[in-house]
Amino acid sequence: MKQVDVAIVGAGIMGLAHAIHAVRAGLTVAVFERSPEARGASVRNFGMLAVVAQAPGKQLDAAQRSLACWQEVALHAGIAMRRAGCLFLARAPEEMQVLEESAVVNRDNDHSLELLPRSALSDYAPNLPSDQLLGGLWSADAWKVDQRQALARIADWLQSEHGVSFHFSTNVHSVTTGALETSAGTFKAGQIILCGGDEFETLFPDTFRALGVTRCQLQMLRTPPQPDNWQLKPFILGGLSMTRYNLFETCPSLPALKDYQKTHYASHLAHGVHVIACQEPDGSITIGDSHAYGDAPDGGRSDEIDQLILSDLSGMIALPDPRISQRWIGHYAYLPSRETLILLPTDGVTAVTMTNGQGMTHGFSVAEDVIQDLFG
Ligand SMILES: Cc1cc2nc3c(=O)[nH]c(=O)nc-3n(C[C@H](O)[C@H](O)[C@H](O)COP(=O)(O)OP(=O)(O)OC[C@H]3O[C@@H](n4cnc5c(N)ncnc54)[C@H](O)[C@@H]3O)c2cc1C
Repeated sequence: MKQVDVAIVGAGIMGLAHAIHAVRAGLTVAVFERSPEARGASVRNFGMLAVVAQAPGKQLDAAQRSLACWQEVALHAGIAMRRAGCLFLARAPEEMQVLEESAVVNRDNDHSLELLPRSALSDYAPNLPSDQLLGGLWSADAWKVDQRQALARIADWLQSEHGVSFHFSTNVHSVTTGALETSAGTFKAGQIILCGGDEFETLFPDTFRALGVTRCQLQMLRTPPQPDNWQLKPFILGGLSMTRYNLFETCPSLPALKDYQKTHYASHLAHGVHVIACQEPDGSITIGDSHAYGDAPDGGRSDEIDQLILSDLSGMIALPDPRISQRWIGHYAYLPSRETLILLPTDGVTAVTMTNGQGMTHGFSVAEDVIQDLFG
């Protein structure tokens, strides 16, 4: 193989985002992925571009820049993408109070939030148990991409339209300045960008370990396609998401909601459960998730966590077919209070790791900045 300008390790969303910005900059690119296709966090998530979840300012701006890139790529690569919106539902007065405050404190920023009385909820989603709900908060600022389709289509498009060479089923054993040792031999590149997700035990493990990067394990479920073309437009979220999303962080009543959850949701909090449900293009519903942090999260699935997730969801929406047909776990790299980790372990090598669990939302803007810094 001839030498390329940029070699990228990992064909998850971060690897592909770097490949896109590199070809836009007129560079030649090769991508190395140990699996036959992307199988990491990027195909195990909700496919949620969570612009709504971002704090106003730098974070929100970056998410909006990333969204603009998704929209362009989706058009060219033929990816299913829709403006699903996001509906936060309140079942307790403490939750409703936070939603009311959020509509006020975010009034002057770019989030388009609408506080909904109970009577208006059915205009936004079907099958809501309105007698149990106090009201909701609607934002149009959440997009849904078909996460499994998207990764495959972007790789196909980069290969066929932009000449990016993909080396799937190719493990990268080691990286030095200008060279990669792989299961398919040695390759040369001017710059090497590592986008290995939560896999930091193989390449430059000491660099990651010194910073204290760990992993987060998440548990996910999916129903079969819902019957009779039943449609759920928005992402559905409840009170447990209000204490996780930056959107609510300046609400004066957030501490009271946290206290309420300590009493009423102790098991959920112990497993980091906050519930999100969204509909896939085939009509199935993806449901999650839980968060277990640490060096070596357990790895196994837990029925108890499934039940915590499903019982909380059933208080928010009655799915016509609530059976579960798929269960999986996913991992992402985690470093508290850091969103992105950009490391330069040796000359000509840059490691880019999302450490906040929002790589789908932020990946394109992070990659744009990295390519800009490296190549101008
Ligand atoms: C359950 C779950 C739900 C989530 N929901 C959302 C969401 O809705 N919205 C959002 O914005 N974010 C979400 N996230 C976070 C998001 O999915 C991640 O931030 C993002 O996918 C990370 O992308 P990545 O490319 O860095 O990692 P990955 O997708 O894990 O890709 C890394 C790739 O590198 C390859 N690799 C690693 N080492 C080597 C090597 N030595 N040689 C060859 N290949 C190698 C791996 O095989 C893998 O394919 C979620 C994450 C999870 C787990």
